[in-house]
Order: sequence, then C-alpha cells, then structure tokens
Amino acid sequence: MGSVQDIIDCPMCGDNEAIETIYYKTNEFEINCLRCGYNKSNLIINLDQIKIDLHWIPVYKRVINKNGVAFRYKIKGQNHFVRAGSKRNKINQIISFVKQNKNYLATAEINFKKYGKWVTIDLLKEEEKSILQAMPNL
Ligand SMILES: [Zn+2]
Repeated sequence: MGSVQDIIDCPMCGDNEAIETIYYKTNEFEINCLRCGYNKSNLIINLDQIKIDLHWIPVYKRVINKNGVAFRYKIKGQNHFVRAGSKRNKINQIISFVKQNKNYLATAEINFKKYGKWVTIDLLKEEEKSILQAMPNL
C-alpha cells in the first residue's frame, strides 16, 4: 500500500513527535503522537467487502482520541509505540509486557498528562505499585 510518513507537530500537545501516515492511494490517514497518545485517523473499514461486492465503495471511519497514555519502548534499537488509551486493563497489560520482556527492552516509558503537566515514567526502573499510583485516575 502506498504511504508516506512524516513527523509533525501534534495538534493536541504541540510537541514535534507526532507521526503522520498518509495512504495517498486511498485518501486514508493516521496521526499518532508519541508524547501524549493523541490519535486521529480516517481509515477504510469495509476492505473485506472489496472482492465480493461489485459496487464496492469505500466506507471511511473517522476517529479522534484525545485522552490517553502513550507507551513507547525500544527493543534492539527499534522503536515501538503503543497508544494505551485510557483503560486500566491496558496499562496492566503494558506493565506485564515490560515485566516479561525486561531483558530485551532497551527503554520502556509511558507518558501522560496529570494535573496539567506531562509525566514520563521509566517502566524499567519503577515498581508496579508506584507506577499505578502515579497514573491519572483512569
Ligand atoms: Zn501530542
């Protein structure tokens, strides 16, 4: 699929760490901020119908997620990013992922906004209890 990727200023937090992916053939796009977890996308949701419907036209779903937690980690020099959303069980999944892969992770951080300030927690250094205490009320 033809796409171009660019680093842009995040429309939410203003940080220059948002990744914009544009699929120029299909008019789809996706923005993910690595700092605040802001996510905006316009993606086709009925691609599975393309081969069975002769009169197929794309149906786009537009999504904007403003509140969330950004989780990023590095394995063997490769950066990964997960938008954790704002669900407690997703945070717990991240914590157990970090526990299980501790030996392979070079970095593992989560970012979120608390009382109007950006907070970054190093998941490789902090204990689970203090991570959950630091988190905003989800
Ligand atoms: Zn942002």
